[in-house]
Amino acid sequence: MFIEFNSQNRKAGWVEVICGSMFSGKTEELIRRLRRAIIANQKVEIFKPDLDKRYSDTEVVSHNQNAIPSTPVTSSQQILLLTTEVDVVGIDEAQFFDSGITEVVLELANRGIRVVVAGLDMDYTGTPFGPMPDLLAAAEFITKVHAICQQCGSLANYSHRITNQSSQVLVGEKDSYEPRCRSCFYEGESR
Ligand code: ZN
Repeated sequence: MFIEFNSQNRKAGWVEVICGSMFSGKTEELIRRLRRAIIANQKVEIFKPDLDKRYSDTEVVSHNQNAIPSTPVTSSQQILLLTTEVDVVGIDEAQFFDSGITEVVLELANRGIRVVVAGLDMDYTGTPFGPMPDLLAAAEFITKVHAICQQCGSLANYSHRITNQSSQVLVGEKDSYEPRCRSCFYEGESR
């Protein structure tokens, strides 16, 4: 379990990345951390890419319906424009942002803000997803969470797509993806 880092330097910001496959509890963990910051009386802003309209337009919602208010944005630059006087910035579904997101996250952290980013580390082909590799490289703290393989019950690291669509951006629902472990994922690929 991630325990909040307590810097002695009041002006110090940092970056935390929560990554993993579909259904691994990334958003749950993001919400948990942001709730604790709110309990600590910190000012928190949460952003998500505009395309994620699965459950709600203005909330970050996890698969088990845990929700927290958020602002949908169409580009990473908008986050900078909308962030004033905050202690903590949360970003969900970071894999869908443009490549400018890493620079935005660094800028926020350099201003002394704690930035908590959640995103899919790999797409359905097992390829690193969008800006996630850069965000992981830049982060002080990384938490990789895991789902359970739907084929064998092992720890799942991959998101297997169970539809025939081939676009990288297919916003996830239970009927489009299933989490799989390494061996079940690559077995499925060859079939
Ligand atoms: Zn498996």
